[in-house]
Amino acid sequence: MKVKVVIYDADKTLWDHYNISEFREPIKVINRDEIEDAEGRKLRVFPDVRSTLEELKSRNLIIAMATWNFPEKAERILEILDLRRYFDVVVARDFPYKFVMINEILSELRKRGIYAKPEDVIFVDDRRAHFGNVWLYVGRVKCVEMWRDISSHSEILKLIE
Ligand SMILES: [Mg+2]
Repeated sequence: MKVKVVIYDADKTLWDHYNISEFREPIKVINRDEIEDAEGRKLRVFPDVRSTLEELKSRNLIIAMATWNFPEKAERILEILDLRRYFDVVVARDFPYKFVMINEILSELRKRGIYAKPEDVIFVDDRRAHFGNVWLYVGRVKCVEMWRDISSHSEILKLIE
């Protein structure tokens, strides 16, 4: 399989918090992988996330995000964690339909002249419930359930070889 695009979920996939839309300003940085919001909510980036994103970039893969969150919140959290620069496309929506977001990502890439077929895509999400509709409405995307199909982020690299 020739994978060109890796699409990530955010909450509980890239970090341990379940809903970044709850985060309130001011948000402070505790260390590179940890932040805390005005009301004491904490978020920690999972191990190997940064090194895996770095490696995917160095292999010239396209990296995108499909997350059920308010767009401005997703952008803010990615910026403050210094992760935004890894993502070519971020689609955050206030609804849970990942298949809609993935189609949006693919259409945005087409606008940029990048024609990725569904089978060129890996979608990593901690909720398997999304996968059925992704297969039905997007196509033969390689769906990977985080923490079930793989137990660490670096295992994503093995899937694209
Ligand atoms: Mg999630």
